[in-house]
Amino acid sequence: MTSHTTRTESAYDVVLIGGGVMSATLGALLKLLQPDWSIGMFGRLDNVAKESSNAWNNAGTGHAALCELNYTPSRADGTIDISKAVGVNEAFQLSRQFWAYLVESGVIASPRAFLNPIPHMSFVWGDENCDYLRRRYEALKDHPLFGGMRFSTDPAQLAQWMPLVMEGRTAGTKLAATWIASGTDVNFGALTHLLVNFLSGQQGFDLKLSHEVEDLKQDASGAWRVSVRDLTTNTTVPVAARFVFIGAGGGALPLLQKTGIPESKGVGGFPVSGQFLRCTNPDIIARHHAKVYGKASVGAPPMSVPHLDTRVIDGKEGLLFGPYAGFSTKFLKQGSLWDLPKSIRMDNLGAMLAVARDNMPLTRYLVQQVLQSNETRLNALRDFVPNARSEDWELITAGQRVQVIKKDEKKGGVLQFGTEVITGANGTVAALLGASPGASTAVSIMLTVISKCFASELPRWDAKLKEMIPSYGGPLADRPDLCAHVHDWTTRALQLEG
Ligand SMILES: Cc1cc2nc3c(=O)[nH]c(=O)nc-3n(C[C@H](O)[C@H](O)[C@H](O)COP(=O)(O)OP(=O)(O)OC[C@H]3O[C@@H](n4cnc5c(N)ncnc54)[C@H](O)[C@@H]3O)c2cc1C
Repeated sequence: MTSHTTRTESAYDVVLIGGGVMSATLGALLKLLQPDWSIGMFGRLDNVAKESSNAWNNAGTGHAALCELNYTPSRADGTIDISKAVGVNEAFQLSRQFWAYLVESGVIASPRAFLNPIPHMSFVWGDENCDYLRRRYEALKDHPLFGGMRFSTDPAQLAQWMPLVMEGRTAGTKLAATWIASGTDVNFGALTHLLVNFLSGQQGFDLKLSHEVEDLKQDASGAWRVSVRDLTTNTTVPVAARFVFIGAGGGALPLLQKTGIPESKGVGGFPVSGQFLRCTNPDIIARHHAKVYGKASVGAPPMSVPHLDTRVIDGKEGLLFGPYAGFSTKFLKQGSLWDLPKSIRMDNLGAMLAVARDNMPLTRYLVQQVLQSNETRLNALRDFVPNARSEDWELITAGQRVQVIKKDEKKGGVLQFGTEVITGANGTVAALLGASPGASTAVSIMLTVISKCFASELPRWDAKLKEMIPSYGGPLADRPDLCAHVHDWTTRALQLEG
């Protein structure tokens, strides 16, 4: 029941909506850049990191394009376009540097609490795919950001890299894989807790859990009036802020719509849920030590690439396979079935209908995924683990990803699979939509928020940004000496020697 009781207004320089890795990263960056600013973080659940950032709600891959084949498409002439892979890797290098800084400055006591070295592998079968993987390897192997990558078609070598995947395989089909030691597994939930713990120890930071943001409007002075419901007392808490970051994950779109800023018009969302098979047999978990990414099936969205993943959570190794896509109209795992219907507005209806019309392969893929039996799921796993037995695996539900739908002059509307930072009202509000490459690139995305919303502060912050992130301001690939230095420094500081 809605209560009309209101409490006295709290005022902050910065309000962070949501307690996931994105808000936590922005909060930490801003607190280090400008310690005297007050920051309020509001999360609707009773703890931080309970949605997509939670360890088992995502795959925990430190996405650096070391193994994800969707970042390296083959051109018509057979050459490989590595530009997207380089961009994703550059973004991950920013995360590595910021995390290394946090460790060296004592903010994070032990990197192993959230980050572990796990080799990244790409694995394919069939002549055409093996040829593609070889060409991809040739295109990447001498690039400074991809040094140390190895390629093999030799079954004995493949068995050494991934015994579980090779065991029980019948000879005859050509196989190929790449392997690189510099891959990582990231517990984004643990990272979120570490960042929020740091913030909680700082002056001028308030963490308000079980507080749901219901509305936000800009007043004539330019300040944001944020209406927050304290879910414990069921009272409304009025909050004022100079700047608001909508880091509400799947819940960001409805809040962006409530701002009324022109940039929010025409934007829609399409939720895709994820499921994983999680291994329950410690003997099998112990026999695999890699993140092995395959090729997506036809019509599948890029984030549905199948992968067999070693996880390290709370110091314990785990193993998951997936994701299997699902469909739910919820925007958050702990959201409402009304989320999607309520997000449809006159200004985004055309774009959403155009996307429904133009994405039949995706629709077919999702229908097939939702209707598949346990046996079909197990057969997909057996492409990677031929001897997999159903009793060793359990199905778990991961987080929701809300893909961005945007108006498009030619097509009416387009579905995007990347992340999108939307800012407005002279940079006093920013929202993060979309989910890929996701949490791995949180630092890069938050630097984009900072550059769009705090441009006038950047000259003052430049030195500190470069102290925390030495490559800040330019790509590493163009600066081989700095690239080598950053690689060595972050490997050492983050204990990634393997
Ligand atoms: C199946 C799956 C696999 C993935 N795999 C990877 C991977 O391998 N590597 C990778 O880098 N990324 C991966 N991702 C993406 C990654 O999980 C997300 O990009 C990241 O966790 C998003 O963080 P966030 O802080 O934006 O959102 P979340 O972690 O979802 O946090 C949102 C927060 O906002 C709160 N909230 C929502 N609405 C409100 C409101 N009205 N008021 C107050 N609080 C609110 C929520 O309770 C929550 O605390 C994956 C995602 C999924 C779903």
